[in-house]
Amino acid sequence: MDGYGSRLMAVPVLLHHPASLEHDTGLHPEAAARIVAIHRELDVRGGIGWERREADPAPRAALLAVHPERHLLGIQELAAAGGGQLDMDTVVSEGSWEAALRAAGGAVGVVDLLLGGGAPAAATAQRPPGHHCEAARPMGFCLMNNVAIAAQHARDAHGLDRVMILDWDVHHGNGTSDIFDASPEVLFVSLHQWPLYPGTGAAQDIGSGAGYGHTVNLPMPAGSGDDHWVSTVEHVVRPLGRVYRPQLILISAGYDAHRDDPLADCRVSDHGFAAMAASVRALGAEVGAPVGVVLEGGYDVNALGRAFADTLVALGSEQAPEPPGLECHPVAAQALRRVAETWPALHGV
Ligand SMILES: [Zn+2]
Repeated sequence: MDGYGSRLMAVPVLLHHPASLEHDTGLHPEAAARIVAIHRELDVRGGIGWERREADPAPRAALLAVHPERHLLGIQELAAAGGGQLDMDTVVSEGSWEAALRAAGGAVGVVDLLLGGGAPAAATAQRPPGHHCEAARPMGFCLMNNVAIAAQHARDAHGLDRVMILDWDVHHGNGTSDIFDASPEVLFVSLHQWPLYPGTGAAQDIGSGAGYGHTVNLPMPAGSGDDHWVSTVEHVVRPLGRVYRPQLILISAGYDAHRDDPLADCRVSDHGFAAMAASVRALGAEVGAPVGVVLEGGYDVNALGRAFADTLVALGSEQAPEPPGLECHPVAAQALRRVAETWPALHGV
């Protein structure tokens, strides 16, 4: 049984905010058109049974639990001064502070909805994205690390001690990885094309200190598609989750591994994203953890709209879709053996 059994009256909720459209990056792949395309696709499909609701701004305390004050002030002051360039590809405009506050607030809202019983599934579709942003360094289109803020909020405000983040954006989520590197209370699992920007995410990096083993990098070769990605989620991530038994699963959901994406070289289909989501939903049901979605990248706006909507359908439909159940791809089998070196309960799965 997943969340529906106990929350019959609640419907899945997608958080959004018009401030997302005011983060003006100019001629840039990470543009407002991405959010417009998601809403257009949902409208075309009649809303797919998800209630759309405006996100609140993130509480200051939730931001400060991840980012130092000077990081926040740096963005806020630059936005107030009319904006500027933080690095080669990370832009702040006048509207970026409010957009970032709402994007982080949406991620926090997803956690509160799921853990407070307000929704059987929840997602946030806002920008700027977050997973490249380190505690004290915005980078890679990201100003605040939305999913990290959400995971930390789940620990601080809801008392959880096992949160799993699955990052399926095609780029390694270096910021999230770094923030929780030494924490066993957040299991960070990333599928990403390798090698690719930002250059982190080697299979050998598995966390440090008390968090040793709680960073799991699953690099994918250029050209890999559904067989690699879906099989790795089903045959590595899902068994790992059964062992870790998270109390909450957050998907750091980028759509730039899509075959139509202009920024990377992977070949995941719309159906592939739906299949990965079905696998995560099945894991959530197995361990009793609700599943939330935080939007990251995805730069072919049509593919983004379709695949994001397919993800929501897979997570939010009353009838859980069948998990993929396909054969274990050799890349996944090899990854499983490697991960089992630090998670011995995975031997023989
Ligand atoms: Zn990306």
